[in-house]
Amino acid sequence: MIFDYQIRVLPQVAANEHAIMEYLAREKGHDIRSMNAVRVLRRSIDARQRTIFMNLTVRLFVNELPPTDDFICREYRNVEGRPPAIVVGAGPAGLFAALKLIEKGIRPIVVERGKDVRSRKVDVANIARTHTVDPESNYCFGEGGAGAYSDGKLYTRSKKRGSIEGVLNLFCQHGASASILADAHPHLGTDKLPRIIENMRKTILVCGGEVHFNTRMDEILIKNGRVCGIATSRGEILADAVILATGHSAKDVYRKLYAGGVALESKGIAVGVRLEHPSQLIDCIRYHNPMGRGKYLPAAEYSFTTQVDGRGVYSFCMCPGGVVVPSASGSEELLVNGMSPSHRGGRWSNSGMVVQVNVEDVAHPDMQMEVDGIEGEDFSSPLAVLNFQERLERLCWLMGNRRQTAPAQRMTDFVNSKLSYDLPDSSYAPGLISSPMHFWMPRFISSRLQRGFELFGRSSRGFLTREATVIGMETRTSSPIRIVRDADTLQHTQIGGLFPCGEGAGYAGGIVSAAVDGERCAVSAAEYIDAFHVR
Ligand SMILES: Cc1cc2nc3c(=O)[nH]c(=O)nc-3n(C[C@H](O)[C@H](O)[C@H](O)COP(=O)(O)OP(=O)(O)OC[C@H]3O[C@@H](n4cnc5c(N)ncnc54)[C@H](O)[C@@H]3O)c2cc1C
Repeated sequence: MIFDYQIRVLPQVAANEHAIMEYLAREKGHDIRSMNAVRVLRRSIDARQRTIFMNLTVRLFVNELPPTDDFICREYRNVEGRPPAIVVGAGPAGLFAALKLIEKGIRPIVVERGKDVRSRKVDVANIARTHTVDPESNYCFGEGGAGAYSDGKLYTRSKKRGSIEGVLNLFCQHGASASILADAHPHLGTDKLPRIIENMRKTILVCGGEVHFNTRMDEILIKNGRVCGIATSRGEILADAVILATGHSAKDVYRKLYAGGVALESKGIAVGVRLEHPSQLIDCIRYHNPMGRGKYLPAAEYSFTTQVDGRGVYSFCMCPGGVVVPSASGSEELLVNGMSPSHRGGRWSNSGMVVQVNVEDVAHPDMQMEVDGIEGEDFSSPLAVLNFQERLERLCWLMGNRRQTAPAQRMTDFVNSKLSYDLPDSSYAPGLISSPMHFWMPRFISSRLQRGFELFGRSSRGFLTREATVIGMETRTSSPIRIVRDADTLQHTQIGGLFPCGEGAGYAGGIVSAAVDGERCAVSAAEYIDAFHVR
């Protein structure tokens, strides 16, 4: 027989299957000799009180064996000779779109400007060593997209439970641990992601799809108001449908679409800094224990949010035990992000600390910066937020001495508007340079961050500390542009067969929601192609 229970146990019990069985025998009256297995279906930490508990949903198998598969596998058929669809971009949106196209009997042709995920690793490592960014192969561009060298956090605020579980199962089918199906805050880790991404590519190729690396889409080919293919850096590719999943860093794509008269909308973003603490300190604060997290608890997470002068100030993309990375996608720009390995055992924990920026805010006097190109700027243009973001990244690069050395300040000095005479050790490999960030950052952002940090320090004692480092700047939290599409058909409102998709199109934020959007676009693209082909 199968029994499902919700239980609240100590971390040392939650970590051990036999200890959970003993607990169930004691608390629920089962004979331990008749128990065959227990599976954890959901797992979350309750760290509100001094004693930390784990909340578990468990499935107990009594006189019965558990199923051999821990996740649901999808069947993929061969699509050689089937009508093609082009997928531009091999990030989460593009890869999940390609796999869904195969399920729907369409042959995906994936076009990716960057390198395969392994070759790309050399280029991202080079950024720290040489301070040069390859504009086609970096933390944002290449197989796996911006998600490839990330924390691989797989939680999302989206409420589409069925679609999210489908995405998590697909990750498991391609090599992720089935524990991501149970964790309240699942994550893969940057060390595990490349193999999973490679396995997805293998599925696409084995089924008759194509994947072209080092191939940049330069133009969308349009005939009679409908897509008929793309022009790439390696020649033309023809197809009746194009899924455009180029992510939020492909500024050239936005600019070309705009120049070609394609309808775009400006979108609000959030910008700020990365904040880095010693992970031991965050563990002590979150687990109310001066000894830290101990043997059974994971590196602690946090999440803060508040309002300052009418704008949200919040933590974003927290990476416990992770590192801060240089995530520029071009030369003469500097921006940072965070990632962590699967064990999250690093010396530091970091998160983005950002301020909400609405479209109208970029015209605010407090947002103007002494960087090229502000004079005569058209703040009503759909590119206005993108231009603002670009100026900020250039300013940050200038403040980093025209290298990938990031400007930084002790957290308390930033709050008190003081220059830091020295800086704590940091995980940021290209190095930090002390800089009065409170002074040169747009006041609109710095003043709200300062106030936000004070409030977070008040709600969590020890969080506002001189041991933490503010690192500049976090600018690519979401897309500054929405490529307008029809809500039902998901096609661009002016161009038949063009499916703007994922984060870059403004319809996702994060790995899982990009993947879900990729699948949705693929279903719509398959229906569109079906309507044109007798198959
Ligand atoms: C360091 C870092 C850590 C992150 N950590 C997390 C995390 O832990 N959890 C999370 O949910 N999110 C995280 N994110 C955000 C997440 O990666 C993105 O939300 C997600 O990857 C968006 O998916 P996408 O497929 O829409 O776009 P992208 O992942 O940006 O993929 C777009 C792809 O298109 C390609 N491309 C662009 N232009 C062209 C062109 N003209 N021709 C051909 N190809 C092109 C790019 O090379 C890229 O591979 C992180 C991002 C970074 C940079």
